[in-house]
Amino acid sequence: MDSHKVLNRKEVPEEMTWDIEAIYAAPEDWEKDFAAIPALVDKFAAFKGRLADSAAALRDAIESDDTMERLAEKVYVYAHLRSDEDTRDSANRSRVDRAESLFAEISGKTAWFDPEIMAIPNKKMDELLAAPELSFYKRSLEELLRSRPHTLSEKEERILGMSSDVMGTASKTFSVLNNADLRFPEVTNEDGKRVELTHGNYIKFLESPKRRVRKKAFRAMYTSYTKLRNTFATTLDGAIKKHVLSAKLRNYPSALNASLFSDNVPEEVYMELIQAVHDKLPALHKYMQLRCDVLGLEQIDMYDVFNPLVPECKLEITWDKAKEMVQEAFKPLGEEYCENLNKAFEQRWVDVCENRGKRSGAYSGGCYDSYPYLLLNFHGTLNDVFTLAHELGHSMHSFYSHKEQEYHYADYQIFVAEVASTTNELLLHDHLMKSTEDDNVKAYLLCHLLDQLRGTIYRQTQFAEFELWMHQQSEKSIPLNADMLSKKYFDLNAEYYGKSVKPNQRIEMEWARIPHFYYNFYVYKYATGISAAVELSRNILSGDAKKIKDYFGFLKAGDSKEVLDIMKDAGVDLSTPEPVHVALDLFNDTVDQLHKLLVK
Ligand SMILES: [Zn+2]
Repeated sequence: MDSHKVLNRKEVPEEMTWDIEAIYAAPEDWEKDFAAIPALVDKFAAFKGRLADSAAALRDAIESDDTMERLAEKVYVYAHLRSDEDTRDSANRSRVDRAESLFAEISGKTAWFDPEIMAIPNKKMDELLAAPELSFYKRSLEELLRSRPHTLSEKEERILGMSSDVMGTASKTFSVLNNADLRFPEVTNEDGKRVELTHGNYIKFLESPKRRVRKKAFRAMYTSYTKLRNTFATTLDGAIKKHVLSAKLRNYPSALNASLFSDNVPEEVYMELIQAVHDKLPALHKYMQLRCDVLGLEQIDMYDVFNPLVPECKLEITWDKAKEMVQEAFKPLGEEYCENLNKAFEQRWVDVCENRGKRSGAYSGGCYDSYPYLLLNFHGTLNDVFTLAHELGHSMHSFYSHKEQEYHYADYQIFVAEVASTTNELLLHDHLMKSTEDDNVKAYLLCHLLDQLRGTIYRQTQFAEFELWMHQQSEKSIPLNADMLSKKYFDLNAEYYGKSVKPNQRIEMEWARIPHFYYNFYVYKYATGISAAVELSRNILSGDAKKIKDYFGFLKAGDSKEVLDIMKDAGVDLSTPEPVHVALDLFNDTVDQLHKLLVK
């Protein structure tokens, strides 16, 4: 990467940048909208105390809220995208700061809205919901009212609100300890240079083809955590206790139940995911055995799990070639999809190259009144083409949902957020496999798929299982200490990776470095999302017109239905273990294919 000359923003050719002027032609236009928002907030605030007056009043209030939010989002998105072009630019930065304070002000001034709706007596609410004026908003109102049994009295809510900052102390302490105070030693890298180990470069070390480098980094990482094991156990215990207490205070039967409530996902989905993954652990063990065979080791260690078995093929892919590859790969979705996909390039949704000060990584972002933009840092590797396919998946999902739905129901839920992106990656995988005769490229692609499925289904489910266990202990009033966390984690890890992986005692500390354990049952969505994508990509590739049409139903659904219903109508029933089984059978077959290529 060092050999690439990094351009200044102004030097990047226009066709390689996104067309943000399509949102606001000039900063002055942004200022105009920014200045218009406080009046919209006041207009909305005038509905306070009047929501139960009539169905028309409630409808007008919702519409007034949407109008304000919609404009605020546009203002916010422009500020953010512009700033990501060059994060060092102070004019850009100041727009982001102003947009963020505006958002904070809006949320302060609109906090009365949901509680006031919730406080409308049942009988009155039934009357309102039956009125034609509210028929369009009925679903979202009912969705809000679903949490009524878990909403406390005004006084209790006030106490909870006031204590929320203190309740977050365990998580905050973890974050500060983990990101600011915790220091790792220097490790010798592949070039023999001493480099300070960081969270950011740890995975790079573990991906090193040199075993010595991986081992050193692994040891350094976990030795550092072991020294602080009691502190990390205490922050984690505090965070789990907080989830458990919040669930109890709000009358949920368990912390898991409380967390799944927002997506309206039953606990069985979570339990079945864990069971389904257990059923398919032999496939993961087989992959670990393949790693032993390829690496020429009797047994591999935990630091031999992440390094790619096949190094990335040295392909130099131009931007034009990358576009062509995804256009070809998405053909099974039909002509109409491809035409819309072309808009991404013709209308310049994509910011392609790296430039000085540009935000790193890749994302898809935008709002109802903008293109679904993509930020990339494209360097021409095969991995970059997968990233393009992934982010285009997000953007096309937004495109269809925005086109099909009114603003009120346009934004899809996190539960389904990674489905379209992963589906497109799988389509690209299939296309590339079919269009190459080169065994090296094939092996790389198979390895890429395996590591994606391993990282997203097996690893996240291992986390999900550990998370569930921690909450269950806490619910039985058993405080979590370092010894029991480590013992449980070590045993679970050994069960997941199987006998081909040497049980390295150091891995027992991995629980300490996973920020997701503070997120309250979040990671399982990664596993369900990719499992759905495997099945959907199969459906698309089958060429069955009905199945493809159903897939578009998902792309267009936005937030107009329950997430499980959206998936079911699209052809994936996540209330059964079937999709996880299908995805892990694909994993199993892929191990076999890779075995054939790599082990003679
Ligand atoms: Zn994504």
